[in-house]
Amino acid sequence: MSSHMQTGRIEIRPNALTALVEALASGAIEVIDLTQPLSGKTPIIQLPPPFANTPGWKTHEISHYDERGPAWYWNWFEGGEHVGTHFDAPIHWVTGKDRHDVAQVPAGHLIAPAVVIDRVEEARRNPDYLLTLEDVRRFEREHGPLPRGGWLLYRTGWDERASDQQAFLNADQTGPHTPGIAVDCARWLAEEAPIIGVGVETVGTDAGAAHSFDPPFPCHSFLLGADKYGLTQLANLRSLPPTGAVLIVAPLKLLEGSGSPCRALALVQR
Ligand code: MN
Repeated sequence: MSSHMQTGRIEIRPNALTALVEALASGAIEVIDLTQPLSGKTPIIQLPPPFANTPGWKTHEISHYDERGPAWYWNWFEGGEHVGTHFDAPIHWVTGKDRHDVAQVPAGHLIAPAVVIDRVEEARRNPDYLLTLEDVRRFEREHGPLPRGGWLLYRTGWDERASDQQAFLNADQTGPHTPGIAVDCARWLAEEAPIIGVGVETVGTDAGAAHSFDPPFPCHSFLLGADKYGLTQLANLRSLPPTGAVLIVAPLKLLEGSGSPCRALALVQR
């Protein structure tokens, strides 16, 4: 029989959604916005020649309570699929070319638990810092296994640079220097870990120097090839606990899209 309580003739059924709504209203559950603002100033990735680059974001005004539309304000926009806080679908990489595009990603995957591994100090000392398998193992010893069907969010403090293209890409004559994930760790996260994806604060899930790794861009290559996802340019990871947050990710349902700018929100118990 069901486990709901019975009080006289009034049945009180525990309802998870009602409890959630009440917790949101009372502040017991807080909503943290993990999204960077999207505008013409949003930093974008810069690939070296001979590769083609993405345009940034651009907004065009249609009318602004004026003769073009006296009572309404609206714009149209153009921009790359991989601009700002965005979602990488498996089809983005050649290793995932037969897998899901962004519109095919199951809706149920867009709400999922998340854990946060913090390597801010390491990345501050070394902008080329790579998350190691031992880092993840140490996290698991302290906090338990990575969440099944959830996200690993990798905090490096890079979001502090997100309003400055130059500081964000941190490039010199040897190329960009931004933190990422070591090759063997990326392979393990793709092939062994129970997660559905990896989220980062940097311009992409791979390190700035990952063009020189074997294989190049291991996060993209392994994760997307394993039908997993990427999430980039996240903000406010400092406001999340190491475990227990729930991530809501909402990429546009672009048919055959390789990814999409998205809103990323976290629910956190206070
Ligand atoms: Mn991307």
